[in-house]
Amino acid sequence: MNTHELWQSVLGELELSLTKANFTTWFKNTFIVSITSTEAQIGVPNVFTKAWLEKKYLKNILQSLQNITDARIRSVHFKIDTKSQTPSLVTLGKFAEGLSPTTKIQTPPFPQQNDSSATYPVALATEIGLNKKYIFQNFIVGKQNELAHAAAVAVAGQPGQAYNPLFIYGGVGLGKTHLLQAIGHELIRRAAQARVLYVTCERFTNDFIHALRNNRIREFKQRYRTIDLLLVDDIQFIAGKEETQEEFFHTFNQLQQNNKQIVMTSDRPPKAIPSLEARLISRFESGMMTDVGSPDFETRVAILDLKCQERQFTINTECLQEIANAVQNNVRELEGALNKIIAYHQFKNVSPTPDTVRPIVASFKPTNIKKNVTPRLLIQTVASYFDVEHSALTGKSREKRFAFPRQIVMFLMREELKASYPSIGAELGGRDHTTAMHAYDKIQECLEENEILKHDLDLIKQRLYTSV
Ligand code: ADP
Ligand code: MG
Repeated sequence: MNTHELWQSVLGELELSLTKANFTTWFKNTFIVSITSTEAQIGVPNVFTKAWLEKKYLKNILQSLQNITDARIRSVHFKIDTKSQTPSLVTLGKFAEGLSPTTKIQTPPFPQQNDSSATYPVALATEIGLNKKYIFQNFIVGKQNELAHAAAVAVAGQPGQAYNPLFIYGGVGLGKTHLLQAIGHELIRRAAQARVLYVTCERFTNDFIHALRNNRIREFKQRYRTIDLLLVDDIQFIAGKEETQEEFFHTFNQLQQNNKQIVMTSDRPPKAIPSLEARLISRFESGMMTDVGSPDFETRVAILDLKCQERQFTINTECLQEIANAVQNNVRELEGALNKIIAYHQFKNVSPTPDTVRPIVASFKPTNIKKNVTPRLLIQTVASYFDVEHSALTGKSREKRFAFPRQIVMFLMREELKASYPSIGAELGGRDHTTAMHAYDKIQECLEENEILKHDLDLIKQRLYTSV
């Protein structure tokens, strides 16, 4: 086996345990630079990938290399190698902290503005359609959004050069619009002359229809194709709109060809957007895709803390934890709960205590939402997450790419729906209950050491509960 074949086998193995989006994003343009019996050096296209692979996938890569070579490989190093086409330097902001001293942060292509906020063109930002609250400075970074955040920062620092397009997806109220607009703000802050356009997909569609009707296509093209940064929110609404898709396709190409940055958000990955043209799917997937998940407990507390400070509302940590415990789904709900609490205590003119907070947040407790999740929905959600057919999971095939998601379904049926093993077997094409038991144990065991699997399950659960 030569090094190329070896790496292909490693990738083949890794692919099975990762989502397609993650796999393509992180392993595109990687290769083995050199390998000895104890050490492997992997070439990666840029510093961003290097940092991410080191942080998240080192263990998996090492393990996979060990499996395949039977060798005593003990260490894996990553080396930025521009053999691949992607630009090798990106601005990483906070993400770059702790990277090797040789890491260079490239200056943005626009002249830098004075950093003082007094020069920040708020009026301009508002005119573009940006909400002045949605900036990086008040975005709390947790495990579930760190990749999306890092990518957004990178893109704002080097529009058109780092990742183009950037596609951010995830459930409602998880900060997609906030991140999207923060990119716009950041670019304007750095370079007031940068031409930024923020639109919802709906707005783009309406503009287009309006232009068609009034013979103003030329103006429309002028407006959308001569900008530096196009931010499109909720692109999933382009589903089924053929002419708008056609127009967006050309807008997209024009901007991308001119190295102008495009960032989109969506509630789902491109492949899952119904009746989205194949050529658009491939365009949307061609840059960086990253998801945002539900915030974990610590992140929820941090977000609440920040929002209270912003509103100058005094509250102790115990109360914040009480809220964070009760409201788990998304940040929008978290804000809603906090608003209720602030209103109540201001009205009563009392200080919040866990006892006064608890009844107010009780209605947010994530108990009754689970009722609506059916085994069928669960199978569907897992299938679409792993990009396989529903029928493949209930079918006979033992291929790993089906068997693994199938085991996840079994695990989640037990864990989330409290289903019995025989009924789990029955739901999955009449399998034996011992198969379901085995699957449950296996996934549980994997979860103990596999961070990625944990992350995958979080995302699946999030989709499951936001889709009902
Ligand atoms: P989405 O577009 O994903 O539905 P939004 O961006 O509209 O979600 O976020 C909902 C609300 O939650 C907004 O007020 C936003 O400022 C806030 N929010 C979301 N994520 C964060 C975060 N990580 N830190 C601070 N605020 C957040
Ligand atoms: Mg939004």
